Amino acid sequence: MTRATLWSLDLSLVDDPAFFTGEEVAVHGLCDLVSYVVRVDSYVAKTYSPATDPAGHGWTGALQGMSVAVESPASPPPPSLPQPAPPPPAQSPRPQPSVVLPGEDGGDDGVAALSPRAPPPSPSARSPPMPPPPPPEPTRFTMLAVAVSLCGLQPAVRPDTLKGLLLGPARTTLQSYAVAISSGRAYLDPADVTVAPGVVDIPCSGFSSGGPWASSSCRPLDQQGWAEYVVAAVAARWGLAQGRYQRVVLALPPGNPCGPVSWASQSCAPEFFGWPLSRCYVLWTATGTFWPYWNIMHEMLHNTGLFHSIRANSSDPYGDSSCIMGSGYNTCLNVAQMQRLGWAEPLAALDEPALPPNTWRRFTLPALSTALANHIRISPGWLAPAALSNPNLGALYVSYRVRAAAGCDGGLDDRHHGLVQLHAYVDTLPLTSPWRGNVTVLMATVGPGQLWPPAADRSLPPGPSVSNLHLALRVVSRTPLTDAVPRVTLELCRYTLITECV
Ligand SMILES: [Zn+2]
Repeated sequence: MTRATLWSLDLSLVDDPAFFTGEEVAVHGLCDLVSYVVRVDSYVAKTYSPATDPAGHGWTGALQGMSVAVESPASPPPPSLPQPAPPPPAQSPRPQPSVVLPGEDGGDDGVAALSPRAPPPSPSARSPPMPPPPPPEPTRFTMLAVAVSLCGLQPAVRPDTLKGLLLGPARTTLQSYAVAISSGRAYLDPADVTVAPGVVDIPCSGFSSGGPWASSSCRPLDQQGWAEYVVAAVAARWGLAQGRYQRVVLALPPGNPCGPVSWASQSCAPEFFGWPLSRCYVLWTATGTFWPYWNIMHEMLHNTGLFHSIRANSSDPYGDSSCIMGSGYNTCLNVAQMQRLGWAEPLAALDEPALPPNTWRRFTLPALSTALANHIRISPGWLAPAALSNPNLGALYVSYRVRAAAGCDGGLDDRHHGLVQLHAYVDTLPLTSPWRGNVTVLMATVGPGQLWPPAADRSLPPGPSVSNLHLALRVVSRTPLTDAVPRVTLELCRYTLITECV
């Protein structure tokens, strides 16, 4: 089997190179007579062949940091990739742990009060020693940012204002938020964050490599057309070097057909460096008075291949309101996505042997936004053959969320403030799933004095769902939420009978 990146696939194997770059559908029309494997990073997301894809010569799926392996014929060599990013600015030292105090009330639906006769934790229930953390691999964001008019609609921000929002002197810049949301492991490189010195006027219609586009609608084809037009205009007017940037960011005028939302392409994860800059865009309606830096980051993280964070038992595609990849408003990412990006490290990593049945294990976690090592990662091997049980495909993540002025959780609301979260993360899903690619699901929110799930909500058939993970979680206590580093003490227990772990 030889491997090609999608760059070479685009040249040699794609009969229909019309990419629909949007939030839900990022690529359409991949086809060939050979089978191929689509990978998201190192994870196999889907395998296709004429036999498994009887519809033949076409599928629709997400394009998120994929490289593509083809069985035959030999494919062209992949393009060269960019060099590793330089180290980020120095990080501040992490605060020291504080004393654990008795808990307070709080919590959410779907949890039960703890039994006062709950057994004490096992004396041996301590986190196993973790291997030393890998050296930091900073995420470097670069961009070409352009204020645009659209068919005569004039932008509300000028280039100097746009630059102030990105790098300063705005109170919260995209730069400062990138540092906060990544535990100091991401940054905007000022040397490669360039704001076009003037407004680019996008006409009312045009023709791009994808076909005709208009400024009166906001289809992916239109977005792509605007991006292509702007990149060409910027190069022609100011000669700005395109190859330096990972993405083009367009500040759209109020009243544009996209509405007060933001959009991005998912077809520009690092593997695709070398594609035209216009293939990797972020669009946002800049009002001049409202600065939704978390929305811009949401779209930039789509650029890097992240998908949305949803909530169990909800059809809302943005159901996790504690995460900016859901409907979080000025919050952090969920910890599973932080970990995927290298922005968080586990305090403990548990597998099936580490969680013997009906045995509570106790852990203390700092609030997610206060420490790089901020979560428990669980590989639920007992759920095999579900993808969640495969450590190469997914895991469960336990974290603790506290609203604080410092850090990235300043906008966390009371549905999550001071509570423990359990997220499920998988990097592969069946084609029939409405959620494509990597998906995070908020499975549970648990407060002090509460047990999740209550025995009445448990079931035994295996499989990942909110009610039958066969994993119980209870919150024992938490320190004052106003501490510099608020901490929570929690316990985990795996049950094989619904009468266990109660
Ligand atoms: Zn999105």
